[in-house]
Amino acid sequence: MVDQGKRIEVVSPVDGSSLGSIDVAGVRRVNEAVERARSAFVDWGRTPVKERVQPLFRFKQLAEQQMGELSKLVSAENGKTIAEAEAGIRKGLEVVEFATSFPSLLQGGLLEVSPGVDCHTRRYPLGVVCGITPFNFPAMVPMWMFPLAIAAGNCFLHKPSEQTPLTPLRFIELFREAGLPEDVFQVVQGDRTTVELLLDHSGIVAAAFVGSTPVARLVYEQATTSGKRVLALGGAKNHLVVVPDADVELTAKNVVASATGCAGQRCMAASVLVAVGDCDVILAAIEDEMRKIVPGETMGAIISRAAQERIERYIDQAEADGATIRVDGRGATVSGKPHGFYVGPTLIDGLEAGHPAACDEIFGPVLTVLRVGTLEEALAIENGNPFGNAASIYTTNGATARYFEQRASAGMIGVNIGVPVPREPFSFGGWNDSRFGVGDITGTDGLSFWTKAKKTTTKWSVDSGRNWMS
Ligand code: NAD
Repeated sequence: MVDQGKRIEVVSPVDGSSLGSIDVAGVRRVNEAVERARSAFVDWGRTPVKERVQPLFRFKQLAEQQMGELSKLVSAENGKTIAEAEAGIRKGLEVVEFATSFPSLLQGGLLEVSPGVDCHTRRYPLGVVCGITPFNFPAMVPMWMFPLAIAAGNCFLHKPSEQTPLTPLRFIELFREAGLPEDVFQVVQGDRTTVELLLDHSGIVAAAFVGSTPVARLVYEQATTSGKRVLALGGAKNHLVVVPDADVELTAKNVVASATGCAGQRCMAASVLVAVGDCDVILAAIEDEMRKIVPGETMGAIISRAAQERIERYIDQAEADGATIRVDGRGATVSGKPHGFYVGPTLIDGLEAGHPAACDEIFGPVLTVLRVGTLEEALAIENGNPFGNAASIYTTNGATARYFEQRASAGMIGVNIGVPVPREPFSFGGWNDSRFGVGDITGTDGLSFWTKAKKTTTKWSVDSGRNWMS
């Protein structure tokens, strides 16, 4: 139903071709989706959890069977390589796997708290809930939300990024095939106007959001004002700290993979490399490693022309302010794809800590090197940045690693790992301005977020020895 009359074209960043278009949902479409979800919730919310997880088992199997086709779709609409697309889908399916363990996790507790008096807990679904997701992981980030929300007994409305709206539609088809009742999971396409309608809707009781920090903050404020439970994950500026005793080859490969994987469009990507003391050999190895990357072959595209231009502006500004651009990804072209959006790997050296290239989320394959004399100075820079998704250290010394781990101000820490995304059932979530709300989005925190606990206390006068039978 087109109720705004507004359509958005979906453009493949790979070659600039059109993949189709979506209708932006307005008031009528949002109301209709909420009403359908409400009706579906009557049965779904009461379905025993052992039954609720059965479609998830089947969905996982179907997604694995159709991995090739799904990866191509993610790659076409997002621009990442097929291998990266597949890795993201498999990572998301780990959350599906975790959700299938809800029958064990939802058992609750029971204890006799005084003679003849028992307390027990049951967790109930919330009702109609929604999830709003970004462009950079069209499959994985939605899978942080819908498996847990649905297995917990909620009916889930998904508002994907208008830049990558096609993969979620395929998920809906797979769930139909997997036997999930209609309307338990719906996609509501649109842009910020649709998000605002969802957040204001009184029929929706909870919202999960993943996207940039300014929007996460807005979403958190709007959703809490309208009385919803909300968890909003935001952007990042991740710092990797390298000390001179780090393994040169491991560090170079790992740092570059972190900074350039998914063309740097990951909330866990390396963005600032803080070199402590003399790390020139390691920096030279990083530079060599970056030069091996070929845009369009070993590295994917940037989501849009506007994003490409934004990234290049940061490099221009750094150069104008006196930085050395040791590897320059500006003007990258890919043979046969003149209309694709590409920026090559970029290594910027010689900036001060306060420079925009060292502070803002650039969200491209750009690594800015900052040089300091001590680990304390490195930690001061990391601690001083407002975000808090990831921070990593490269060292061969366990004591140095431990010191860093305890003092870095981020929710996910890497030791010799530049993308320290925890594998499920360890949960995903940052700190500081990378998260608004309480808890992580996956793992047992996800279970808590999508459910509410009811605590029952019972007392039976069995001591009298009399009941209706006696
Ligand atoms: P975005 O914030 O522009 O958009 C995210 C979602 O919000 C989209 O669905 C979009 O339609 C909607 N939206 C955009 N502007 C809005 C507004 N003013 N009001 C309401 N809704 C609005 O993010 P993006 O560019 O799609 O994704 C990249 C960002 O996501 C980066 O900042 C990245 O770090 C972040 N991200 C964070 C995590 C994490 O776990 N913390 C994971 C992935 C991506």
